[in-house]
Amino acid sequence: MKQGPGLLFVVSGPSGAGKDTLVDALLARSPQLRYSVSATTREPRPGEIEGQHYFFLTREEFERRREAGAFLEWRDYNGNLYGTPRDYVEQTVAEGYDVIMKPEVNGALAVQRAYPAAVLIFLVPDRFSYLGERLLARRTETNEEIAHRLEIAHQEMEFIRSFDYIVINEQHRSEEAVEDLAAVLHAERFRIHRYTDDRLRSVEHT
Ligand code: 5GP
Repeated sequence: MKQGPGLLFVVSGPSGAGKDTLVDALLARSPQLRYSVSATTREPRPGEIEGQHYFFLTREEFERRREAGAFLEWRDYNGNLYGTPRDYVEQTVAEGYDVIMKPEVNGALAVQRAYPAAVLIFLVPDRFSYLGERLLARRTETNEEIAHRLEIAHQEMEFIRSFDYIVINEQHRSEEAVEDLAAVLHAERFRIHRYTDDRLRSVEHT
């Protein structure tokens, strides 16, 4: 039963952990879940669609929006700017839908500060070394960019303990990681503090 505002889920973790694939799979099976499309100044990769994968902005436009307070959080990642549009998240949650986003780790922690009720999930591969292998296999970055992403990944791992959940995306078993993520989303709906006092009273006394 859908009631009141939706929940905010933040799936983070190092580049190459499988956030894109797992969140896509989750969205395909969860009608109540909406994806928050981020804005970025990075160049689109082949196959990426404006408004679906990202809102691709010039640096000037990104900075203009940032000054206007349009981003709930934003970060410089590997020389490009990335930000979460505030309006979409606030409106969609107010309509009662759950929202999922996948920022890098500092962005996730900024969301947690702005919305303490957000649920933070850290996604990692079962071995750190798989990150590099996955980034190489997808062939979307130069070797130099991959090296830098791995350096950032090392730093990001330090923040695991600030998250609410960890999901381990084991090599060749991503369906299990999707199940684990779905279980987290499902269970979060039943936390006592998400129910209004009126709703609790109605089950107590009727
Ligand atoms: P990519 O260039 O691979 O699409 O993304 C690079 C990193 O930026 C990834 O770790 C991704 O999760 C992160 N990212 C994507 N959108 C946002 C956002 O809106 N805010 C923040 N802080 N990071 C983002």
